[in-house]
Amino acid sequence: MSTATADGASVRRRRPAVVTVYAVGIVVCAVVLFGVVAVRQISTVDWGSPDLLTCYLLAGLLVLGELRPVHVARADGDTDQVTVSTTFALALLLSGPLVLALLVQGVAVAASDALGGRQRLRAAFNVAQYILTLASARAVFCLMTGAGMLDPTTTITSDQVVAALVAGATFFVVNNGAVALAVALQAGRSALAVIEGDLRAQGLTTVILIGLAPVAAMASQYSVLVLGLVALPLVGVQRSAGIAAQRQYEALHDGLTGLANRTLLRMRADRALTQAREVGGLVGVMLLDLDHFKDVNDTLGHHVGDALLREVARRVSACQPDGATVARLGGDEFAVVIGPVPEPEQVRELAARISSRLREPVVVDDVRIGIGASIGIALSNDHEATTDTLLQRADIALYQAKNNRGDVQVYSPEYDQNTVMRLALVADLAGDGVPEGFGLVFQPQIETATGRVVCLEALMRWRHPVHGPIEPEVFIPLAENCGAIRNMSHRAVEESLRALDRLRVAGHDLSMAVNVSVRLLQDLEVPTWVREVLAERSVPAERLTLEVTESTLLADPRRALGVLRELRELGVRLAVDDFGTGYSSLSYLQQLRPDDLKVDKSFVTHMLADENDEVIVRSTIELAHGLGLTVVAEGVEDPATLGRLADLGCDRVQGFHIARPMSEESLLTWLDSRRAGEVAAALPRQEVRS
Ligand code: C2E
Ligand code: MG
Ligand code: MG
Repeated sequence: MSTATADGASVRRRRPAVVTVYAVGIVVCAVVLFGVVAVRQISTVDWGSPDLLTCYLLAGLLVLGELRPVHVARADGDTDQVTVSTTFALALLLSGPLVLALLVQGVAVAASDALGGRQRLRAAFNVAQYILTLASARAVFCLMTGAGMLDPTTTITSDQVVAALVAGATFFVVNNGAVALAVALQAGRSALAVIEGDLRAQGLTTVILIGLAPVAAMASQYSVLVLGLVALPLVGVQRSAGIAAQRQYEALHDGLTGLANRTLLRMRADRALTQAREVGGLVGVMLLDLDHFKDVNDTLGHHVGDALLREVARRVSACQPDGATVARLGGDEFAVVIGPVPEPEQVRELAARISSRLREPVVVDDVRIGIGASIGIALSNDHEATTDTLLQRADIALYQAKNNRGDVQVYSPEYDQNTVMRLALVADLAGDGVPEGFGLVFQPQIETATGRVVCLEALMRWRHPVHGPIEPEVFIPLAENCGAIRNMSHRAVEESLRALDRLRVAGHDLSMAVNVSVRLLQDLEVPTWVREVLAERSVPAERLTLEVTESTLLADPRRALGVLRELRELGVRLAVDDFGTGYSSLSYLQQLRPDDLKVDKSFVTHMLADENDEVIVRSTIELAHGLGLTVVAEGVEDPATLGRLADLGCDRVQGFHIARPMSEESLLTWLDSRRAGEVAAALPRQEVRS
């Protein structure tokens, strides 16, 4: 039957007192009604009469139908149960003793609720509203046909079919109305809207099931075999409802994790916002993005990535409070809609709970994987908020959160400023050539043992004509995303080699290290182009070092490795930058076989104060030397760190203590004065005095 039952999916725990009073009221009415019918009818019916055999058969079919419900997805994404028992319940009600119909339907619903683990009051309410529903339907039928309410059996004739159908309609209205009212009281929704949703979801099925009821009643009077034939279309109804439910489920859920998908999430957010407008409170939308997921997928394989996503789905769902919706929007992006809730604190607490659950490592195939998530939250503080604006704001907050990995950020209007600025910068970057104000600075690297300057690192700078200097951390990711990094990297290599050439002419014969981005390594033309630039400037290939970070390669390892191999065949050197911050350092080194390792400045800068950092620096130096690589420590900010690095055998150092990155002009002055110092230091004391 297309039954309405008070199910958890559509019922929230709001205004519990009113709902409880209502539910208890329905139960009391039903108990009294059933008591009266039972007392007056049980003794008057000859329960062993053969006339009742078909009634027992209908009762059996009713129970069977009730215990095998089909879940039907509603248009709003919730589920309803459809069971074919409606037809048999109505047929029994029309043709048999009312007390039998009430008893069997009551027991069947109670059994089905017990199997479904439903809460006791909810189950009692469900049984009670069925008793009232059946009694009302019988009353309408009796009023229209003149049959007695408590007649033991009623023979249905063809001129009573209309009355039977009206009784069926009464059944639908009372049954769905009683539940709709409970949902309306509990969730603060309009009862009419709930009934409208029911009609849309189950309307056609209900018409078929109700329409078949008089046929079943008449067939049962005629012969058991014919009744069997009536059951056939019901099997069809049950199957097609099941298939439709499955289709709708697939359309609204993510296949990998079983979570809601974007469409369902939007529907839930729309519904939560409508409720918030009706009953108050606010809605929270949370967007989650896993840190390092791409690395896991690329290095450990997609099956591990999939297992990780399923585990994340499980953890987030476990944190989810009643009535919240967790969705996977694609890739490693998840979302949660919560509300209406009275306080923003509840949304923040949920985010903190999810964030801390996701920090616990996941073990897949015996590999311990450290994950973590950045979370952006948007709250509907005003009545204007729509699902679109909330998702957009959560996305802006997520961007902020990602900048401090593993963080939770609540949207604030000042973030819009950043977004506007970001968009403006992207527009400036996206033009042909390099953007106005683009340039390079150079930072020297010295040999630890001798103090000799051996290499320069070229670093990009962008002094925006309107916004002033923009941090590389801001403009480089933007340039990578919009493709502008290609032109900028080309310019960086060309200009740095030109600078190297000029410095050589001025008497400083050095090497140059240039950072290359992932985009550049996807370009198969790069090796040819680098060879041409080197030839044009007459710079020997081994004077050029390309610095790549681990994450650079992970994007498309095979292609990037191919390009790198060709570059190395030219004689260009390779350095792994920011070593120690990436995901799988050792396997990466094996594939890449670089010349230099640059220990990340985050370990170097605090190595004297933090023992762990020192251990990392020391073991990296040992590892690199074991593999025959040169070690460069970046981020050396004081003489003590320089001294310690020299003790540890680090080959080269770079950092503010030696020199900050500077323009070519300043660099030339710096190199000249350093050379003069070196010369002076090398001269005998007397000569210096004279
Ligand atoms: P990186 O390649 O690791 O560059 C070293 C960064 O450390 C530079 O920051 C430099 O100014 C800074 N640094 C140097 N010595 C010290 C020190 O003693 N203490 C501290 N705290 N920092 C120091 P910068 O110039 O802001 O560059 C940041 C990042 O931007 C670079 O990190 C690199 O990943 C990227 N980048 C810079 N230029 C380019 C480029 O031409 N192409 C690409 N793809 N990325 C670049
Ligand atoms: Mg670098
Ligand atoms: Mg670095």
